[in-house]
Amino acid sequence: MALRLFNTLSGKIEEFRPLVDNEVRMYACGPTVYDYGHIGNFRTFIAVDLLQRYLRQSGYNVRYVMNITDVDDKIIRNSARDGVSVKQYTAKYEKAFLEDAATLNIEEPQLVRATDHIPEMAAFIAELEKKGFAYRAEDGSYYFRIAKFPGYGKLSKKDFAGMEDGARVDVDEYEKDSARDFALWKAPKPGEASWETSIGPGRPGWHIECSVMSMEELGESFDLHAGGEDLIFPHHENEIAQSEALTGKPFAHFWFHARFLLVEGEKMSKSLGNFFTLRDLVLKGHKPSSIRYLLTSVPYRNQLNFTFDGLKQAASAVDKLRNFQRRLQTTQFPEGSTDVMAQLARESGERMKAALDDDLNTAQAQGIIFEMVRAANAAIDSDNMRKQGAADLLAVLARFDEIFAVLKDDDGAQMKAIVDWARSEGREKDISKDASDAVQSGQLGDEQINQKVAALEAARKARDFKTSDAIRAELNQAGIIVENTKDGVRWKRK
Ligand code: AMP
Ligand code: ZN
Repeated sequence: MALRLFNTLSGKIEEFRPLVDNEVRMYACGPTVYDYGHIGNFRTFIAVDLLQRYLRQSGYNVRYVMNITDVDDKIIRNSARDGVSVKQYTAKYEKAFLEDAATLNIEEPQLVRATDHIPEMAAFIAELEKKGFAYRAEDGSYYFRIAKFPGYGKLSKKDFAGMEDGARVDVDEYEKDSARDFALWKAPKPGEASWETSIGPGRPGWHIECSVMSMEELGESFDLHAGGEDLIFPHHENEIAQSEALTGKPFAHFWFHARFLLVEGEKMSKSLGNFFTLRDLVLKGHKPSSIRYLLTSVPYRNQLNFTFDGLKQAASAVDKLRNFQRRLQTTQFPEGSTDVMAQLARESGERMKAALDDDLNTAQAQGIIFEMVRAANAAIDSDNMRKQGAADLLAVLARFDEIFAVLKDDDGAQMKAIVDWARSEGREKDISKDASDAVQSGQLGDEQINQKVAALEAARKARDFKTSDAIRAELNQAGIIVENTKDGVRWKRK
């Protein structure tokens, strides 16, 4: 079975097929770099990361482009407030975004920046004007004439019958159901950043940025365009209007939108005190892997309610998977294979694929992996695991992790980087004890722990209990539990 995805444009689940051969060309609206990214942003970016990983695993060559919006109303306002240039203002948050994305194991897409494409945007607007889709206002701003584009509303399914021709809106974000001609280009205002271009001085509107950069990188028609559900209207509706007006061809074929994240049952907002950046959560002592796991635990189109209970459960799920992987890797199983384990590995792999093919049902895929872990642990406990079975199950786990990316334990190092950052920003008071402890225990990598456990074993065999107890205490201090089992000594992180 092939991947089936919900397409916001058709309003239906459709089989996903690229326009050309095996090549997937996709574009996601990236962050507006005016502040640190919050976990809602990362729900969307992780959903798109997961999609592109799964497309690759399904055998496609994926070209994935993401923009960085480094000029818009908010950025202009904040940089003017702080008395710095737009570039200085955004550089800090762009760097933070890239660090946070890497912390969450989001693979880096090809990045494009709005401010690197200003002349192309001016040329695009000039072309729209020539075709009658854009007009210049008295102050030198340009607007898109939506009455000229009959398809306006086809993505958001809004009915714009009776819209006022010529009524305008010039802010980047608006939610009005009554459509207005939107700003393509904004004339300079005193104290605001602006560029000299072929259509005069000014700066681009937000929507034009994505039309220009996506088509420049991926062609006039490409496969998939993604973002959070808030972007459907007006941003994506406007992108379609601008792009299709210019080329007369369909713009993106699939429109992929992630549902908005709630936190503790409410819309995230600073005034409710439920607004969290990735860094806030890490400083509270939560591991990046738990955060990534939780953000993928509900399929991207369903409501995900982010709670601290959920985060604890996610942490425990990741630990179980890591401990299971380590158990399979380190236990000496007898040679040979069993039909039961061969079947378990095969069926788990097939069911996982079927779940992800079904509009990326990540919750089901995670459920399937846990059924596999339970059955395999039971087989090990009753001496029914053989070498081949362990290898087959490890391969299924590795395929799962190509998508979910939580098995490699670099939480300690990632958390340390964020704790160091907080210190450098004078935010010591925000560093919780849990975060400092986690940084301590995470300092010990798997290899170092293996060596210490081997030394403990050797001391115990030599009946040097003083040494073995000391090593055990040291490991315990670092958050590592050492257990004696009939298959030898095993360790896990608390
Ligand atoms: P922004 O930096 O505001 O341009 O947003 C970057 C991405 O995050 C966009 O795709 C938004 O749709 C998405 N986004 C913003 N808030 C949330 C939220 N609460 N839940 C999910 N996605 C969000
Ligand atoms: Zn965009």
